[in-house]
This record gives sequence, C-alpha cells and structure tokens, in this order.
Amino acid sequence: MAASLTESRASNKQIIFKNYVTGYPKQEDMILTSSSISLQIPDGSTSLILKNLFLSCDPYMRGKMSEPIIKSYTDAFTPGEVIYGFGVAKVVASGHADFKAGDLVWGITGWEEYSLIPEPKGLLKIKYTDIPLSYYTGILGMPGLTAYVGFHEICSPKKGETVYVSAASGAVGQLVGQFAKLMGCYVVGSAGSKEKVDLLKNKFGFDDAFNYKEEPDLTAALKRCFPNGIDIYFENVGGKMLDAVLLNMRNHGRIAVCGLISQYNLTQREGNHNLFCIVTKRIKMQGFIEPDHKHLYPQFLELAIRYIREGKLVYVEDIAEGIEKAPAALIGLYEGRNVGKQVVLVAKE
Ligand code: NAP
Repeated sequence: MAASLTESRASNKQIIFKNYVTGYPKQEDMILTSSSISLQIPDGSTSLILKNLFLSCDPYMRGKMSEPIIKSYTDAFTPGEVIYGFGVAKVVASGHADFKAGDLVWGITGWEEYSLIPEPKGLLKIKYTDIPLSYYTGILGMPGLTAYVGFHEICSPKKGETVYVSAASGAVGQLVGQFAKLMGCYVVGSAGSKEKVDLLKNKFGFDDAFNYKEEPDLTAALKRCFPNGIDIYFENVGGKMLDAVLLNMRNHGRIAVCGLISQYNLTQREGNHNLFCIVTKRIKMQGFIEPDHKHLYPQFLELAIRYIREGKLVYVEDIAEGIEKAPAALIGLYEGRNVGKQVVLVAKE
C-alpha cells in the first residue's frame, strides 16, 4: 500500500465519486483510480499536503451522493471528483504558518493516499497521541461530539431516567449509552445482530439490549424493556422504530433526533403514524447537527481523554485495511455490517 516516492512525487490511489446515486449505493458508484501527486507546495501557497492515515465512513455521506435537489446543510459530492470526508493524516509539506511537516491532524480530507488541501481551516492538530489515532474519526472526533451534545445538550438527562438508544453499537450509539450510564440512567439499546447485542450488554454496560431484527413487534419489545416507559430516546434510525418508541414514551419525554438511517436509501420514505403522541405526552423532539456545536469540542475532548484514560469510556472500532476497501466499508454501514465505528486504515505513519 505504501506509495512509491520519485523525485518528490508519489503515486496516489484515489476513490472517485462516479455519479449521483438513487437507492442503496453500490461498489461501482465509487471508482478506485491511481494517479500521482507532487509532494511540494507551490511557492507562496498556504496549502498543505497530507498523507492520509485513516478515513472515516459515516452515514451522512449517503446524503452527499444524492442529486442536490433540496438544499442540505452539507454539499453533494461532485461526480468525477474524489470523495471526501473525515480522516486522520500526517502533514507532509506545509505552506501554512500554523502547520509544519510531521504534524498529525484530523478533519476533512480526500479519499486518497495523499491530499492537497488548499485551505486547512477545517483541520485540527492532534494534541494527544498516546490514544489510538483512529479514535479521532470516532470517539474523539465528529461522532464523539455528536453523542456528547446530543445526549447532554438536547436530551436534558437526569439521574435515574430511562434512556433508549437505537443503532446503539455504532460510532455514536455506543457512546450515548456510556454517557447515559455515567449519568446514572437506566439504559437499553437495540442493534441488528447477536454479536452487537452482546457488546452492548457486556462491553458498554447497557442495562439491557435487544436485536430489533428478531422482534416481530417493536412496540411490545420496548414495553418489555421499559414497563414504565421511556424518558429519553436517542434516535438514530427512524421509520418503524420511531413509531414504536412514540407509543412507549413517558409524558414530558425527550427525543434527540440524531439521524434516520433506515430512510437514507429509500426512494420513497416511510411515513410515521404515531406523531399524535408528541402532543398527548407533551414530548420534546429536537433534531440537531454536530457542526452547530463545534465550540464545545475543546471541553468535550478534555473530558473524553480523561474518561478514556480512567477506563470510564471504551470504544469499539471496525477497521478495514487498505483504501481499496473504503467503498465496501461505507456501503456496509447501510447494511449493518460494521461492528462499532467504521474506519479505513490507509497507511501506518
Ligand atoms: P453506525 O451506527 O456506526 O453505523 C450505522 C448503523 O446503522 C449500522 O451498523 C446498522 O446497525 C444501523 N442501520 C443501518 N441501516 C439500518 C436500518 N435500515 N434500520 C435500522 N438500523 C440500520 O453509524 P453512526 O455514525 O453511529 O450514526 C448513527 C446515526 O447518527 C445515523 O443516523 C447518522 O446519520 C447519525 N449521525 C448524525 C449526526 C448529526 O450531527 N446529527 C452525526 C453523526 C451521525 P444495526 O446492525 O444495529 O442495524
């Protein structure tokens, strides 16, 4: 996988976005190509050249694959251009005063071995390197801050409350469950396999968990887990699950709508039937996006680092090795193939 260096140029494998996608993304929507890149910064430029180490696969990337008919908070990928997303990288060359060769950074980078970053304003220098670098795509990166603000800011949790998390073993869900346990809540999670359910109960400390794919009646499953109802629902999936949750919410419950992954690939999105419960139970339901809360990142990072070192937070990753594996790894998110945070290892430092 190591790129061959010749006179300050390197070969550069890239993943190109072929064209807008309808329905589930397929391998052929993302094309592996190879080109070469200069590792020198043009005179006077403030750009950076990065060697990408880890790439992050995140569900929101599906939204960037759709034709941009409705304006979203995030732009669509451009057909024919390199896919981009969060990643961890090493600075190879820098024309920018804030960065130097050898710095480790995380932020938006290309799905390629080397990236030319014209304007590094979306990159943060990595301060703590005694923690696995891949964690900056997950627990110490965007999904980590999402779990933190979604639970602590949007859900207004109190000790002793009941919390339900869907897609609970994933990048965000596993952290929400652990934050809720640290707060003294009763926490139940759902996931799509026995292996994931075991992780929830035995690794992340959820009080209970179930495999939603094996439950013929989701409303009954939630009633069994929460005989007195749910105070807080951390919504990751939407669809039928949301309908079942609404029937099981307690009065004055809170729902943080983090994502609706069950709907992302549908050409005809499902409707919900139990929204009247929001009125009758006086439920507060709020969507949120992580970029609105970036100002909380420094305080979140310090807390997460401390909790990791104290063993209060653990994190499970699913690491695909080689940039060639990135398309399949991303597609796997929408099929539930990832067990934990999906990362792609591009290069070891
Ligand atoms: P993840 O949970 O690590 O991976 C996605 C998981 O979703 C899959 O492993 C699968 O787990 C589940 N899933 C896939 N298709 C499904 C379906 N049709 N029905 C039910 N579950 C399905 O992903 P993540 O990064 O933690 O993201 C979780 C949610 O948070 C997503 O909705 C994402 O869009 C959202 N998110 C929002 C923000 C924000 O700023 N608002 C930021 C990050 C993520 P199972 O095996 O359990 O089915």
